[in-house]
Amino acid sequence: MRSHLLNDTTAEHYRRSVTAGVERVAAKLAATDRPFTGISVDELSPVVDAIDLDRPLGDASAALDELDRVYLRDAVYFHHPRYLGHLNCPVVIPAVLGEAVLSAVNSSLDTWDQSAGGTLIERRLIDWTAARIGLGPAADGIFTSGGTQSNLQALLLAREEAKSRPEHFNRLRIFTSECSHFSVQKSAKLLGLGPDSVVSVPVDQNKRMQTMALARALERCVAEGAVPMAVVATAGTTDFGSIDPLPEIAALCEQFSTWMHVDAAYGCGLLASRERRHLLDGIEHADSVTVDYHKSFFQPVSSSAVLVRDRATLRHATYHAEYLNPQRMAEERIPNQVDKSLQTTRRFDALKLWMTLRVMGADGIGELFDEVCDLAAEGWRLLTADPRFDVVVEPQLSTLVFRCIPAAVTAPAEIDRANLYARKALFASGEAVVAGTKVGGRQYLKFTLLNPETTARDIAAVLDLIAGHAEQYLGDSLDRAS
Ligand SMILES: *Cc1c(COP(=O)(O)O)cnc(C)c1O
Repeated sequence: MRSHLLNDTTAEHYRRSVTAGVERVAAKLAATDRPFTGISVDELSPVVDAIDLDRPLGDASAALDELDRVYLRDAVYFHHPRYLGHLNCPVVIPAVLGEAVLSAVNSSLDTWDQSAGGTLIERRLIDWTAARIGLGPAADGIFTSGGTQSNLQALLLAREEAKSRPEHFNRLRIFTSECSHFSVQKSAKLLGLGPDSVVSVPVDQNKRMQTMALARALERCVAEGAVPMAVVATAGTTDFGSIDPLPEIAALCEQFSTWMHVDAAYGCGLLASRERRHLLDGIEHADSVTVDYHKSFFQPVSSSAVLVRDRATLRHATYHAEYLNPQRMAEERIPNQVDKSLQTTRRFDALKLWMTLRVMGADGIGELFDEVCDLAAEGWRLLTADPRFDVVVEPQLSTLVFRCIPAAVTAPAEIDRANLYARKALFASGEAVVAGTKVGGRQYLKFTLLNPETTARDIAAVLDLIAGHAEQYLGDSLDRAS
């Protein structure tokens, strides 16, 4: 069994094994003609269940053959131009190379004595990101597993800075728009805040937080003797890609001495864009910022960070253990990243971004993100000119929320069902993958465009498929009625 350990004597085995895996994936990517095969849970479960985990195959090649059946053949492929579903990007090759290196070396970024240079690389990337945001000389931050964890950590710091005693936690309030990410609510619960702690602020017709409404909500909060703990502005809402008015929100946070968190999980790609960086103006006033490199920096999952204006606030996540990061090490100025993190053992995800910046540069990433934003603008023009569809807002980033309105139908519930059916039928056909959401209680469909290889022709073709499935549904339901 020792022959499976990666070490000085097995370098050749490692090379052959990983190369064989890379060959399979490369062949698979080259041969994929649709984002999904359309397989159902009922078809795939028995294939996975039939594997006897107590009888190993002993050999990587046999395991790869098997993996083809249980996973690779029917996976959902984000690199395909007709994958238009969730906020998943195709990944850039330098980052995949970084991923291969980081898992083989397997540094853990909790302490200097488990990572050395890895720690310094992560710190450089945190400084680089903070500088792009404009957070100032005292900024710091840490890589996390994703936007959800970044938001949680930011709100933990905000809660501690609100200097409230636990018995007052039910007086703390977080203000965020009705279009913000559900991790804000989850974080509030994890942080022990009361059920009314998250105040939902209405949005305007462009799905951006209404600052007048925020001002009124803050005033009401104070008048009622509650404490405004934080405002969470979203720079790129998950559904609409809308960016809340950051300068106005910053001014209100200043006025009410409230922590300003900007959730830029999606919009962070603008930090690399030369054309659109201005859309993030005002983000430099934030106390904390969430960025998801695994969304708009074309990085593999996971790659995310939370940045803070004042590094001293990270102390709220600091604990010392004799076996890991004793206080004395901090005094000796040994950089232990665990002092700033909610995690202990932690992947060296930063290496992927490092390789990306060293090979392509930030402008390369920004250009890719600009391309998908341009594509969304084109998609918007297609949708507004097409009488079969109703589209919600002109995109600031790269999502389009729309629905099919078949000519013969007027009953709202029937239109909802036709759109739900179209999404499901499309997924089952594997020809394209789209997402769905509700707007004003009605069922909508969504394209999240993160693939620069997707063209306006792909968008037009997928719209035709959707309209076709919706018509098919209505035809069938007319047959059922008659
Ligand atoms: C995706 C997303 C998150 C959550 O990030 P994960 O990396 O999925 O945990 C948070 N906020 C916004 C606005 C998002 O789009």
